[in-house]
Amino acid sequence: MIVDLHSHSRASDGLLSPADVVGRAADNGVEMLALTDHDETKGLAQARAAAGQANIRFIDGVEISIEWGGLQTHIVGLDFDVRDAALNAGLESIRVGRVARAQRMSAALEKSGIPGCLDGALRYAENPNLIGRSHFARYLVEIGVCRDVRGVFDSFIVPGKPGYVSHQWATLEEAVGWILGAGGVAVVAHPGRYKFSRQKMRDLLDEFKGLGGQAIEVISGSHSQEHCIEYSRLAREYGFLASCGSDFHGPEESYIDVGGNAPLSADLAPVWTAFR
Ligand code: AMP
Ligand code: MN
Ligand code: MN
Ligand code: MN
Repeated sequence: MIVDLHSHSRASDGLLSPADVVGRAADNGVEMLALTDHDETKGLAQARAAAGQANIRFIDGVEISIEWGGLQTHIVGLDFDVRDAALNAGLESIRVGRVARAQRMSAALEKSGIPGCLDGALRYAENPNLIGRSHFARYLVEIGVCRDVRGVFDSFIVPGKPGYVSHQWATLEEAVGWILGAGGVAVVAHPGRYKFSRQKMRDLLDEFKGLGGQAIEVISGSHSQEHCIEYSRLAREYGFLASCGSDFHGPEESYIDVGGNAPLSADLAPVWTAFR
């Protein structure tokens, strides 16, 4: 069974509409799909309707931006009640923070000689409340500052670079609490991507588990083969359910296509055993 439980649409920083993400997933043979836009659930209704047409089992998802251990970290929520008031209020508070961060990013870029970035980035953000670094990166490519989005990240908008500004995201406790409170399953997104020491990763997993977190992404579009092996091992050790997803953002900007992630190995307990 082809399962992809991590994908993005234009409701956050993806390039396709929610319906087009689903259509592409269907073309790729996906049988179970979650749309997990950053800090936003507004694409889920359209995606669910399209999935019904395409005979795909659709799972409501969201990828919540948090700060943990001094780094921006992501917690995916799956199969929650999209009407839950506390979850929606929490996500709204993160979106408000994003708008303020974008203004500070634009000011920082202007200081380094590139004016007008907020207006430029907003042209790429169909959902202006969800403005993020990818929208800035697309604008900087458009005006010829870098050749591709990856280059903009590396040179301008990662820690230590001139357009990066620190930001107060939600906490791990808040994100897990909102997801569990809405009846969902909390998942540590792409753990291999965080530049934590081994011990700090264990601290994160311990704290996450203590808060009621149940799953980690073992297979991810942003994981190497070594990451898959390491996080399979940690899933077994901690008794976490295992999740898998492409982290698809769009045909031009992603390493792998929607549904292009490897399957979970048979000896792991899949996260969908916990779905309602
Ligand atoms: P933000 O949530 O606004 O801080 O933006 C984070 C998003 O930027 C991630 O979800 C990715 O879509 C994208 N991203 C992060 N790092 C990179 C990178 N090195 N190259 C390309 N895209 C990146
Ligand atoms: Mn993204
Ligand atoms: Mn992420
Ligand atoms: Mn993602």
